[in-house]
Amino acid sequence: MENLKVALVYNQVEQSVLAAEKLKKLLVASGNVIDQENPDIVISIGGDGTLLSAFHLYIHRLDHVRFLGVHTGHLGFYTDWRDYELEELVETLCNNQEENVSYPLLDVVIRYRDGRADKHFFALNESTIKSLHRTMVADVYIKEELFERFRGDGVSIATPTGSTAYNKSIGGAVLHPSIEAIQLTEIASLNNRVFRTVGSPLVISKEDWLEIRLPQGGEHIVTVDQFSVQQADIASVYYRVAPDKIRFASYRHMDFWHRVREAFIGDLK
Ligand code: NAD
Repeated sequence: MENLKVALVYNQVEQSVLAAEKLKKLLVASGNVIDQENPDIVISIGGDGTLLSAFHLYIHRLDHVRFLGVHTGHLGFYTDWRDYELEELVETLCNNQEENVSYPLLDVVIRYRDGRADKHFFALNESTIKSLHRTMVADVYIKEELFERFRGDGVSIATPTGSTAYNKSIGGAVLHPSIEAIQLTEIASLNNRVFRTVGSPLVISKEDWLEIRLPQGGEHIVTVDQFSVQQADIASVYYRVAPDKIRFASYRHMDFWHRVREAFIGDLK
């Protein structure tokens, strides 16, 4: 039996608060410690959004932490346990019966025109760039080469696990999370005889990187999962598969395609 330092992150839905209280008692009774500062395991209770928040709260401990998601609503993509399975969850966690899995993240670097220090983020789902007031114009570079000039509402760059989130809503492909890649998807591109982009989503390997260069003078919003940075003077945003991954503990191996079907299609009979 392993004694673990566990942090709990939960939303304010009554069911989540009750599950968190019960889980705390079960964890302590089985010899584990609740440690919100330096945990080995972070358990989120709520939905995918709660897991995203937990990821960003403990991003500075990515190398040390394993995550686990309990869902109190409908089945999520990052949440595998139900709130009525907490005893089993604690037992599994303590005995480390299941394999850990890890998934690719998106490395995001915002560069400024005025020489300010770059801003660095990791996204678990995606990062988007949109123009605040006007049609967004951007040069898309793959490695050092100009690939296309984009005009439209914006672009989204998603991780494989984020491919079922916003990326899917804007026509991106659903990517199996074992593929170490990122996906660039256009948001309402202008495509006519003057303005041309390739139009289809691009899946970029971990050997390549993307740079979205923005023209001078515009104000842009860059989102990273549920957060946004709104700023003038952004020169470019650089994206690649991050060197670090997110690790999940006691992840239930529901087949990915089964999960996609459950979430988006449901029963076929
Ligand atoms: P939220 O927590 O309310 O999440 C919005 C919905 O996205 C929820 O139903 C959630 O279960 C689902 N979701 C989140 N991650 C997912 C994933 N990896 N695969 C499938 N579904 C997923 O909203 P929030 O906290 O503001 O934003 C979190 C995420 O919500 C963003 O990263 C974005 O991907 C997603 N989102 C999607 C849309 C859209 O599809 N039009 C719009 C806004 C936000």
